[in-house]
Amino acid sequence: MAQAHVLGLPRIGAQRELKFAVEAFWRGEMDVAALQDVGRRIRAANRRAQRDAGLDWIVVGDFHWYDQVLSTLALVGALPARFDASPSALTLSDYFAAARGTAAQGAMEMTKWFDTNYHYLVPEYSPQTRFGNGTDWFFEEVTEALAEGDNVKPVLLGPLSLLYLGKEKGGLADRLALLPDLLAQYERVLARLKSLGVQWVQIDEPILALDLPANWCEAFAPVYARLAPVAPSLLLATYFGDVTDHLSLLTALPVSGIHLDGVRAPRQLEAFARQWPCDKVLSAGVVDARNVWRCDLARARDMLAPLAEALGERLWVASSGSLMHCPVDLSSEARLDKEVRNWLAFAMQKLDEVALLCRSLDPAEFARADVRAAYLADAAAQAARRTSPRIHNTMVQRRLAALTEADARRRSDYPARAVAQRAWLELPVLPTTTIGSFPQTASIRAARADFRRCALSHLDYLETMREQIRLAIEKQEACGLDVLVHGEAERNDMVEYFGEQLWGFVITEHGWVQSYGSRCVKPPVIYGDVYLPEPMTVAWSAYAQQLTDKPVKGMLTGPVTMLQWSFVRDDQPREITALQIALALREEVAALEKAGVRVIQIDEPALREGLPLRERDRAEYLEWAVRAFRVCSCGVADETQIHTHMCYSEFHDILPSIAALDADVISIETTRSDMELLDAFEAFDYPNEIGPGVYDIHAPRVPSQAEIERLIEAALARIPAERLWVNPDCGLKTRDWAQVDAALANMVAAAKAVRARLASARIQAEMQTRLCAQVQAA
Ligand code: GLN
Ligand code: ZN
Repeated sequence: MAQAHVLGLPRIGAQRELKFAVEAFWRGEMDVAALQDVGRRIRAANRRAQRDAGLDWIVVGDFHWYDQVLSTLALVGALPARFDASPSALTLSDYFAAARGTAAQGAMEMTKWFDTNYHYLVPEYSPQTRFGNGTDWFFEEVTEALAEGDNVKPVLLGPLSLLYLGKEKGGLADRLALLPDLLAQYERVLARLKSLGVQWVQIDEPILALDLPANWCEAFAPVYARLAPVAPSLLLATYFGDVTDHLSLLTALPVSGIHLDGVRAPRQLEAFARQWPCDKVLSAGVVDARNVWRCDLARARDMLAPLAEALGERLWVASSGSLMHCPVDLSSEARLDKEVRNWLAFAMQKLDEVALLCRSLDPAEFARADVRAAYLADAAAQAARRTSPRIHNTMVQRRLAALTEADARRRSDYPARAVAQRAWLELPVLPTTTIGSFPQTASIRAARADFRRCALSHLDYLETMREQIRLAIEKQEACGLDVLVHGEAERNDMVEYFGEQLWGFVITEHGWVQSYGSRCVKPPVIYGDVYLPEPMTVAWSAYAQQLTDKPVKGMLTGPVTMLQWSFVRDDQPREITALQIALALREEVAALEKAGVRVIQIDEPALREGLPLRERDRAEYLEWAVRAFRVCSCGVADETQIHTHMCYSEFHDILPSIAALDADVISIETTRSDMELLDAFEAFDYPNEIGPGVYDIHAPRVPSQAEIERLIEAALARIPAERLWVNPDCGLKTRDWAQVDAALANMVAAAKAVRARLASARIQAEMQTRLCAQVQAA
């Protein structure tokens, strides 16, 4: 008989208990004992859920107070030394201090966990890095689970991934040099698990799904040759991609089993099964841990059946990866549309799917009435999803089919457009603008919430929002900004706001997923063809425009970001969904233009993060991502100025694609790298206008005029003045008005001061030329 397990569960709790407890602890409103209690309850609930579902192995060690990478560092005593905490006596406060920073030390850097929206803390490795006895938290959790008598399978991030995902600091040339010391700690940890009576350990090495340098690949065999003898049976877990490239390496590794992602890379299952050693376990991840769709049981069973035949009890049935990237429990969704709900499965439902699939591999079990009934119900749900008119909209499909190359091209090239835009915009050199949102004050949030629960009438809501728009316009005019915004008071979130209005999207009530630390996001679910029933932003933007003679910038979220920050359909390529969103936004852009909003910003902060993990898949992604942006932005007249905005990521490696978006203006986050990014823009010779952020909105301080002037000058050294804009580096919604008022006043004053210097330099240059001419003539 095959065995059932999952790679990990969400740790936030069904009602985000962890978030609320941890934040209360940070505020000093909860003591450590009460916090520990919340953790214990979440872990117990997760174990109970696995047991109730009938899984053969109960995963433990997947609970983390902030982040799994940080917890692994805590376990091997290797928190960055700059935090000056005692590794073996580490407290929860020390742990949080490293994650969030202290008065004296900045927080550890955070970056995306592979291609998910989860952010991990980046280990810092230097020549001084030492590993040693760390916290006992992991062992305590294992003991807690063992006391219940289950088959416990602890999960541990593997040593090579732990090293690879870190950064070299302080002159360390190669972090692989730290491997021998680190391995001593893994030996200690694994031996201790064995002595506790643990039979299997899941050791995650997700870096195997990346383009891994040869020396890192070569490190696997000696590392596992050293760990296997002292450890319980090791299940080496890979996920997020295909590891067939490493087939012979993995076959020869002295581990007792391997886990493969059968959702992202289904074909590798067969490839491995064919030559998998007959004494080793193969865990097939067939239930999608990265999305919210109900598993097509019949299809998954068809995939598993030949594996079961070949492997017998050495087959383990699993989720494709950890379920931490899924919302917790569909049964919390009382208000979700019934039809759509029937197509979904969250983490708790996925536990049942894994168990059921595993059970049904046994013919006798498969014949039982309850199993048959579950398969029939699933088949009906899958069939409905394939044919439902809620999903398949022929109008959208016709429009998509009718798209031509010309639809993805502006009428004229940028230089001609720039002339047409300058003619009516009449902007000064170094025009000033902001990124879109203004402070989301408590009263704005309260008004939105009241409107939602019908405690505020439509009229009162409208008036409250209009009042905010008037305030925003007044303030922008007073401080002398050139291109204004309406301030986005009506938006809760830049994706959800649009998802609520577009057909083909649903918004869940409790579909939270951890983004980092205590922060959770609630991605919309795109279930069907995307259709725009009526304009979404025109009323707000047009209202703002009518209050002022200065141009007001309309504000939209781009197709790639909408896609990237949602749960996406798995019944058609992502590219098609992106194009459908683009078509809907194209209509919104046209409606804005028609209403007299002729500067329109389409935000794409997530363009970079959609980049596939493997180099070989990137060109294709960039091509359709750029096309989607162009489809939504290119339907306008030359006079209409299209802006885009990007932040949160490194852009150096995708500059050609950023240029290919062909936005007239891009505003981009650069302040934290002190204009470093601009060297790349200069070297690449970026052809259109650019507004490098000159004010770091993430820092809770007001930048001085002098500071901003210095940044503008730095930008001027690299970008010609005619193509340079002055703006903050992101939206201002998280700041308060006092900071924003002061910072924007300084920003505008800085722009004016630099303009004056530019003008006098120009006059002097002209005088110089005239003088030279006179001298030569004499
Ligand atoms: N227009 C959005 C805002 O200002 C952009 C947000 C973002 O870049 N993430 O809030
Ligand atoms: Zn931004």
